[in-house]
Amino acid sequence: MTGLRTHETDICIVGGGMAGVAAAVSAARRGQRITLVERAGFLGGAATAGSVSQFVGWHTRAGRKVIAGIADDIIAELAGLGGADGFDRFVMSTGHCMDRIAYDPDLLKIALDRLMQAGGVEVFFHSILCGVENTKGRIERISVAGPGGLTGIEARCFLDTSGDMALLSAAGAEFLPEPAAGRQPATMMFALAPVDFSRLEAVSREQKTEIIQRGLETGALPRAALHHSRVPGSAVAWFNISRISVDAVDPLSLSAGEMEGREQAVRIARFLIGNLPGCEQARLDRLAPSLGVRDTRRVLGEHVLTADELRRNEGFADTIACGAYPIDIHHAGSTSLTIEEFGEDHYYRIPYRSLIPKGLKNLATAGRGLSAESEAFAAVRVMPSAMATGHAAGIAAAMVAQSNSGDFRAIDVPALQAELRAQSAFLGES
Ligand SMILES: Cc1cc2nc3c(=O)[nH]c(=O)nc-3n(C[C@H](O)[C@H](O)[C@H](O)COP(=O)(O)OP(=O)(O)OC[C@H]3O[C@@H](n4cnc5c(N)ncnc54)[C@H](O)[C@@H]3O)c2cc1C
Repeated sequence: MTGLRTHETDICIVGGGMAGVAAAVSAARRGQRITLVERAGFLGGAATAGSVSQFVGWHTRAGRKVIAGIADDIIAELAGLGGADGFDRFVMSTGHCMDRIAYDPDLLKIALDRLMQAGGVEVFFHSILCGVENTKGRIERISVAGPGGLTGIEARCFLDTSGDMALLSAAGAEFLPEPAAGRQPATMMFALAPVDFSRLEAVSREQKTEIIQRGLETGALPRAALHHSRVPGSAVAWFNISRISVDAVDPLSLSAGEMEGREQAVRIARFLIGNLPGCEQARLDRLAPSLGVRDTRRVLGEHVLTADELRRNEGFADTIACGAYPIDIHHAGSTSLTIEEFGEDHYYRIPYRSLIPKGLKNLATAGRGLSAESEAFAAVRVMPSAMATGHAAGIAAAMVAQSNSGDFRAIDVPALQAELRAQSAFLGES
């Protein structure tokens, strides 16, 4: 990679979704020079490009808060813009109870911009990873294609928070095998407006079941659900109903999925306007900018998190985050969903080693990239967990950048945990 423009930094983060942003904020607080590379022209990943519109999984069912720290700071910034509601418990059309914060995806983009500016993070928008120089397990430099051509970025260490594990893949990391049941399908989120929420929210569970049945029988609904969330203070509802089986790291498959997602959104919107009380006056107001991808590659980490470890709340000595969201599996090629809830006040721990890919020294991951078998991933994939693991990865990266070893394995994990606790992160009770 000769003849490139070169950019030097302490920590380079590839992927500006909720995990990458949380990592950038936490590393910047330690006074490091941070460069964040993002292929879109805004931050947030699935939260904005996918218009997911609700952060779920903050509390146990009994109400114990298990996600805090930088995740709370991000929500506070968003709430300051009027872009987030408070915590809300809601019953899904499947009958499961969830806790969430509904938000405005456009205002979230602005909140995340402000956090980057406040932390002095250098953001490379419209820039996509296209190469890596890797010597004996150490990333020396990456190249990104962006406005004006190619730039080489040299850093002491790197985080891959691209969701699709773009940097890990380019660096030759080893990945877990494809799950036997296939990867979870993608969804094209869409919004209807104006919605009469007083009528929509008065629809009974029985009525919903009957509407879903009609939608499935006529082929209008690809999924047995009517999930929606309201953009705070507006008459706009985002719906999470479409379902598209896609290999998101195959360009032709992903492109076909984007097109199929838009087609499904139009069909479903027509059905909802004709059948769902409160939506009669609405139109298809907007589509998410991109298909929401739940599941792609998962790296082989120093620890691969399992569903049994979540079920028994394994007491990892290197816990860096917790979660309480249930195992939530959208089945490929089917209209159904499996949700395995945990006990009333059950939470689980996530170990530092699941952020560390085998065989690479100065590269770690967070968020959707966590090393986890597919059932465990179905629980830890939500955005509050992505922010919590990003928070930890950012501090760890700052420690690596300041160390002589330059190796994520060599950091002082108790010191990382102490710093996380001092920043209000919840790491479980001892
Ligand atoms: C349809 C759908 C519904 C969901 N529902 C919920 C929900 O209700 N509540 C909830 O909390 N969670 C939900 N989730 C899960 C959650 O949204 C994601 O798992 C989470 O946002 C992942 O965050 P992340 O930062 O790890 O990755 P992502 O959000 O995937 O971010 C990765 C970022 O990396 C960038 N990137 C990728 N490749 C490159 C590259 N080569 N170069 C540069 N940049 C790159 C992307 O543009 C993106 O911005 C849902 C997910 C989907 C898809």
